Amino acid sequence: ERGLFLADYFARPSKRSGAWMSALKSGYKLGHGSKPVIYNIMNFAKPPEGEAALLSVDEAKTLFHEFGHALHGMLTEVTWPSVSGTSVSRDFVELPSQLYEHWLTVPAVLEKHALHVKTGKPMSKA
Ligand SMILES: [Zn+2]
Repeated sequence: ERGLFLADYFARPSKRSGAWMSALKSGYKLGHGSKPVIYNIMNFAKPPEGEAALLSVDEAKTLFHEFGHALHGMLTEVTWPSVSGTSVSRDFVELPSQLYEHWLTVPAVLEKHALHVKTGKPMSKA
């Protein structure tokens, strides 16, 4: 078990706008150690009951970006809590999220994940 990942994807009237990743608990080995509890917050429009949540490309990019940060937090392997997960140099903190954002538009990823909600078929290359 690596830790716990939580996601809160849909907008609500009381919710702050935007999208972000954060940690309720960071992961580290010091002392008895700690497993990370990481969450992603988004503000996607909630679909009507029984319907799929369809995301625009920009929304999907945000989802992949924040999930890149979440994996950074989940896969951390450090001794000290002060350098756990995304608590790294500013020039490195965006690397996992940028990689994930990039992979969204890689054809092999699109073919596997960008499937039509009704037919289950991949998006046409055009
Ligand atoms: Zn970011």
